[in-house]
Amino acid sequence: MTARQNSLFDTAPDEWELDAKHEQLAASVVFAEPPHGPYDYAVPPALAAKLRPGQRVQVPLGRGNRPIVGYCTSVSSKPVGSRPLKPLARLIDEQPLLSPAMIRLAEWMADYYLCSLGQVLQAIVPAGVRGKAGTREMTFLSVPPAVKEQLQRGEIKLGQKQLDALKVLAESSRPLTPPELALAAKCTLGPIGELRKKKLVKAEVRRIQHLEMEEVATPREEHLRLNPDQQIALDCILASLRERRHETILMHGVTGSGKTEVYIRAIDEVIGYGRQAIVLVPEISLTPQTRSRFKSRFSSVAVLHSHLSDAERHWHWQQIAKGEVQVVVGARSAVFAPTPNLGLIVIDEEHDASFKQGESPRYHARDVALQRAAMESVPLVLGSATPSLESWQRATESGGQGTGFRLIDMPRRVEDRPLPAVATIDLRVEFASRSSRGAVSRSLHRAIDEALREDGQVILLLNRRGYSTHIQCPACGYVVSCPACDMALTHHRENEQAICHYCDFQMPAPVRCPQCTFDGIRFQGFGTERLEAEIKGRFPNVPIVRMDSDTMQRPGSHEAALTRFRSGEVKILLGTQMIAKGLDFPNVTLVGVINADTTLHFCDLRAAERTFQLVTQVAGRTGRGAKGGRVLVQTFSPDHYAILAAIQHDYARFAAAELPSREAHMYPPFASLVRIIVRGESEVATEELAEAIGTKLRTAIEATHIEHRLLGPAPCPIAKLRGLFRYHILLSSPHGATLRTAVRGVMESVEPVEGLQWVVDVDPVDLL
Ligand code: ADP
Ligand code: ZN
Repeated sequence: MTARQNSLFDTAPDEWELDAKHEQLAASVVFAEPPHGPYDYAVPPALAAKLRPGQRVQVPLGRGNRPIVGYCTSVSSKPVGSRPLKPLARLIDEQPLLSPAMIRLAEWMADYYLCSLGQVLQAIVPAGVRGKAGTREMTFLSVPPAVKEQLQRGEIKLGQKQLDALKVLAESSRPLTPPELALAAKCTLGPIGELRKKKLVKAEVRRIQHLEMEEVATPREEHLRLNPDQQIALDCILASLRERRHETILMHGVTGSGKTEVYIRAIDEVIGYGRQAIVLVPEISLTPQTRSRFKSRFSSVAVLHSHLSDAERHWHWQQIAKGEVQVVVGARSAVFAPTPNLGLIVIDEEHDASFKQGESPRYHARDVALQRAAMESVPLVLGSATPSLESWQRATESGGQGTGFRLIDMPRRVEDRPLPAVATIDLRVEFASRSSRGAVSRSLHRAIDEALREDGQVILLLNRRGYSTHIQCPACGYVVSCPACDMALTHHRENEQAICHYCDFQMPAPVRCPQCTFDGIRFQGFGTERLEAEIKGRFPNVPIVRMDSDTMQRPGSHEAALTRFRSGEVKILLGTQMIAKGLDFPNVTLVGVINADTTLHFCDLRAAERTFQLVTQVAGRTGRGAKGGRVLVQTFSPDHYAILAAIQHDYARFAAAELPSREAHMYPPFASLVRIIVRGESEVATEELAEAIGTKLRTAIEATHIEHRLLGPAPCPIAKLRGLFRYHILLSSPHGATLRTAVRGVMESVEPVEGLQWVVDVDPVDLL
């Protein structure tokens, strides 16, 4: 054996060695910034044993061999080419940050969302994890076995202090840091340093998480007795779970039908198998109420909300990866939680727009969850009172074998509580009769008055913040608008500022027209701030709280406001859509929608859907207790089908009215959409590039012969944002995969242009 080894390099190579000459171990590495790669690097023998896909590595890049950190996505044996591969320099992570399953998911995302794998990986791994936040490197000392033996035999001659320290360390049950050893051996660090120099102790550097999370204990609660609708829903999920197969289940349950209770029971089963569950909720629903609902049922719940520090986020990530967390509850990005043995994904309020990420990679958590659930063979449960039409269509279309979702209907509220009666107030009539000034009609005023007198609470929704939404000069018609966005500024009276809601530009609210100096400039339109002032005037001495992104800026303020409302101290809660979601207050007997039309007439293909969702969701905030409740919806369009369906709590009716026009216009759910936005400081250059891209796209799509529609290039509805002009192109086709391939081909061929940027948004939600 020894002889063979000695002669390894001077005898004829055997087969294995021949291979080694023609093959080498190569790591495929991608980067978060361009050039994104992938590039192959040679793996030096010293690193071969430690390197695994999912680790970050430092490699030389480009002609100058600039050191850069990238993600290793695979390691494989590659033929040795004519040009030698550059060697990988070092490993950044001891353990992979991503499992092979997560790398596959990321590859799917890069392919589907037409972006680079490096970008996706960077988005999946939180910054706190990448930066190893909340950890530090510490040295741990131990005595090697050989030294221990010598010590026992009394063969080691040292000064007394060093000898004492060595003995203490030899007897310690675990490695000690130098300060720990100094303390235990009652010596200074000097003798310990000597021991290290003499190599009598072994020093090992390890990265230690020093953050200890104090978990507030939540009292445990028993499961509720499910009603028959809930039991049917649960049985359906359990069937998939027990068969260990992937299936997507759309739970269409009216507000208050007890969907959360069903999720909880399904999760219970999953935990029984030693697996983990992920629950995605809209960011705004991550209230203490939601947290405690899960924490009171399960012993180990991680809640990932946006106010976590990097160190906390890293700590949770580690706990999840170790399998020590049973349930992960979080917003969009929790879909990437590194659960080692996933058993179930739940998405509550699956229609919510916050599941779509607004920056690259512009993924939709619902679609990523669907992919992840399919890859890991686990069920995906989608819950909503107002499902997205995309999900609804997949659950109800006939003949869609294999791709269909299973539909579960929960049409009744728990304990036979009735759905609230909803009525509309026709603002055209109110306006014509001039019976009311301000935002609150006479009928709504009366209803608020009654509700308060009967000791009920009131929720008022107005989906616009600020005081006046419009500042205009009646003499010359000038509208005060943002210099960077060209959008009308909103008057905020709290600080007498005119503010752009798109870029936060502010200026003092003008007292005279900036154009013609006329001093009767008008402030028009209603925002929540003005509604608050009006309500205070109408109902003096009634405690009210306003909830919008202006009043809820400080972390914790949202929770504090809800607590005051829940306790009954506050009687009227008014605010933007922030108040429409998920809140469960039994004493709310009246919900008023100040203007249902704010979202209705947007030039957006989902305007009707959003209006229907908003009105239905906010209506669901009442009638949750024994007192029942009612809803009044002020609108200029009482006959619009979205409003008519919402007041009857009739989702199927809304879908039936909306779907044909979606189909006729080749819009989702009947087609895939891709939106390309071009931005730049120069309007001419922006338009030119948009035109050039549009021409290329038209040619590429026509060559595929698929049915399609290409709209634009045209200025975006928000034609200028933060000083940049914006043009967009909207493509749609029932053949999504072919469409995306064509777009990818074109966009990869577009040469960078100084001062211009472009964005590709697959399945866009925001079309402004
Ligand atoms: P959803 O998520 O469908 O809006 P929730 O799960 O929040 O409904 O349930 C609404 C309310 O009904 C909650 O306060 C919940 O505790 C209660 N609830 C749910 N299921 C039951 C049940 N089987 N029996 C009694 N109360 C229930
Ligand atoms: Zn602006």
